[in-house]
Amino acid sequence: MSETTPQPLLVVGAGIAGVTAALEAAEAGRDVVLLEKEASIGGRVLQLHHYFPKLCPPSCGMEINTRRLERNPRVRVLTRSEIQSAEDGKVTIRQAPAYVNDRCTACGKCCEVCPAKVADPHDLGMNEVPAIRIPHPHAWPYRYTLDREACPDGCRACVDACAYDAIDLDAKEREETIEVGSVVVATGWHAYPLDKLPELGGGTLPNVISNVQMERLASKTGPTGGKIQRPSDGEAPKKVAFVQCAGSRDRNHLPYCSSVCCLGSFKQALYVQEQDPESEVVIYYIDRRAFGRNEELLARLAGEKGVRLVKGKVGRVEAGEGGALKLRAEDVEAGRLIEDEADLVVLATGMVPNLKDGALPLGLERDEDGFGLDSNKAQVAGVARRPADVATCVRDATGAAARALAAGRA
Ligand SMILES: Cc1cc2nc3c(=O)[nH]c(=O)nc-3n(C[C@H](O)[C@H](O)[C@H](O)COP(=O)(O)OP(=O)(O)OC[C@H]3O[C@@H](n4cnc5c(N)ncnc54)[C@H](O)[C@@H]3O)c2cc1C
Ligand code: SF4
Ligand code: SF4
Repeated sequence: MSETTPQPLLVVGAGIAGVTAALEAAEAGRDVVLLEKEASIGGRVLQLHHYFPKLCPPSCGMEINTRRLERNPRVRVLTRSEIQSAEDGKVTIRQAPAYVNDRCTACGKCCEVCPAKVADPHDLGMNEVPAIRIPHPHAWPYRYTLDREACPDGCRACVDACAYDAIDLDAKEREETIEVGSVVVATGWHAYPLDKLPELGGGTLPNVISNVQMERLASKTGPTGGKIQRPSDGEAPKKVAFVQCAGSRDRNHLPYCSSVCCLGSFKQALYVQEQDPESEVVIYYIDRRAFGRNEELLARLAGEKGVRLVKGKVGRVEAGEGGALKLRAEDVEAGRLIEDEADLVVLATGMVPNLKDGALPLGLERDEDGFGLDSNKAQVAGVARRPADVATCVRDATGAAARALAAGRA
């Protein structure tokens, strides 16, 4: 590479923050390598049913970005890819095998014949899908993917069914070393695990679900085709309780506020009311965190007659009669302990940075909660830096891209 051509920017993680950082840098004239560990890009927003403030489908925003990516030859997108090692500006990338190649026309024949079923990660395990499949309807690239370890010994049904010679069950992992000028880390988050909250029925009571599961239940592309149902019997719940700060702002779990879970539950209360205007919703909260234009959402919620907000912390959720749930909570304004019942309980679990599990082989610094810190090694964007909504992540990613372009070698 000549001295006058700057080395590419490496963006790690292709959620809304990483995709934004990559596009901003590329549109400013820098070559970019965008790394995503999953088979398709977009991250967590593509699991949401609607997103605030406008309550539109998140796929709309992502489609604009994928069109920008398709138009911009400066961005090289590597899916199924992670950093293996990095030293002195040289980064070695490991790419998982491409069992399905670009001859795939997405005809779906392989999927029809596949005998192996796996829990669908996109629907958080709430349904089963074939081992070979399209990851979800908004996948980009729109290419079939395969969980090879789920295949029974000797099975080649998909290969035989494919008229395009697009499947190679013996495909191998690839490794590549590239030189990069700077790095943006945008590795995002995962939900705080439900089974760490057994006192609230998490992981033990089927009708206690997480807020991210609620997004999938409400989504037309989710496990129930968009019908909000109790997992235990498929009945539509007449009464839904939302438990705010489930495991958040708690030294035993996540000490910080994830900032978007209040708005997430307000939005989800509207999903419930839209499906059944006669239903009852109770939101148990400690503080109502709604910011900027999202105040409008709170005002809209106040107009719903079936929605009640109770300032109080839920301490326990137990099994009641016939799949119903009993909640014990403190009603702070009334100054007493209360008991309540619900058909479905949604725990507003917080966001855990994926960096908490490991700092990537980049020598990245992290705070005590696992969020990344900017340094001369890398700039950090989106929820990898701190919990935030999409609009904040987009602004943050634009800033990270600008800082990374100004910075020197990784
Ligand atoms: C219940 C709930 C509802 C919400 N609703 C809204 C809403 O209505 N409106 C709104 O604005 N916000 C909402 N949010 C917040 C929104 O989901 C986040 O702002 C958004 O997902 C942040 O995007 P991100 O790119 O930072 O992270 P992510 O979406 O997590 O993307 C990170 C990407 O990095 C990839 N990755 C991770 N590790 C690696 C690695 N080592 N190598 C390569 N790739 C990697 C991941 O696979 C992923 O694709 C909600 C959050 C919750 C919990
Ligand atoms: S891999 Fe082959 S059978 Fe499967 S969707 Fe692609 S072209 Fe069709
Ligand atoms: S080889 Fe694997 S992916 Fe292909 S049909 Fe058999 S089980 Fe399904």
